Amino acid sequence: MNKLGVHAFVWTAGWSHDDCAHAIAKTAEVGFDLIEASTLDLDAMDVPFTQKQLEKAGIGVTFSFGLDAETDISSNDRDNEMRGEARLMKALALARDLGATHICGILESAFQKYTVPTTAEGVKRAVAVLQRVGEAAARSNVIVGLEVVNRYESNVLNTASQAVDMCQRIGSTHVKAHLDVYHMNIEESDIGQAIIETGDHLGYFHTGDSHRGYLGSGSIDLAGVFRALVKANYQGPITFESFSSRVVGQPLEGILGIWRNLWEDSHDLASHALMYTRAQLKAAHEAQKQAERSRLP
Ligand code: MN
Repeated sequence: MNKLGVHAFVWTAGWSHDDCAHAIAKTAEVGFDLIEASTLDLDAMDVPFTQKQLEKAGIGVTFSFGLDAETDISSNDRDNEMRGEARLMKALALARDLGATHICGILESAFQKYTVPTTAEGVKRAVAVLQRVGEAAARSNVIVGLEVVNRYESNVLNTASQAVDMCQRIGSTHVKAHLDVYHMNIEESDIGQAIIETGDHLGYFHTGDSHRGYLGSGSIDLAGVFRALVKANYQGPITFESFSSRVVGQPLEGILGIWRNLWEDSHDLASHALMYTRAQLKAAHEAQKQAERSRLP
């Protein structure tokens, strides 16, 4: 059974004690299995305090972040690589201490708009770093999800097939592809087919819609997405990610281009997303069973 989660930015952009307590309590109140905690500043997270809130609420946690230009492991720059590896290891230790099952996000490059394509040497160097991160992840029993994002946010992984290639080169049981339907809608030729072809390499999944607002209120064929997840026999977390200028501030607002106020009421948005996801998953499982139920006597 997939664990269903919600991105912390649905509730709050920061992770002060008040933010953390509020986001975790609301996630549990709505009925999600887990919260995806997210910060670009690893030092900003009080791990024991967060753990206490998670225990009190009785929910699980995953952790997302992204590298930046100075920690870009794909840049073919030794200083950046060293800083990037240290940052990934630090995030991994933080996730382990938090009791997180997964770390995910743009971990294979910087989270930024590039002006030039990536290079073979840069990818090779990133793979070597992620092999070492994979070994540490296996020891900590944390799955590392490399997020596939659109061309304006990275120049390394823009399609699911690139992520499969990278995972195969890394060759770790604990480094997987993290797919996000918002980005897939921009880059993939066939979203459902891409999910199915990712197969066992799929380790984390973000739902959302074409404008990152209410699930089902955009232009993506979400019924097809959930059917593909069921066909791929994907068992990992499914987390709803949505951004509105109501919550997100700088620097994320600028990097992601969150200019519009797509929702006001976090609780209504999250409750609807959970309901919608459960209904879609149920329908997808029933669709899968139709073949068995439709045999001639
Ligand atoms: Mn995402």
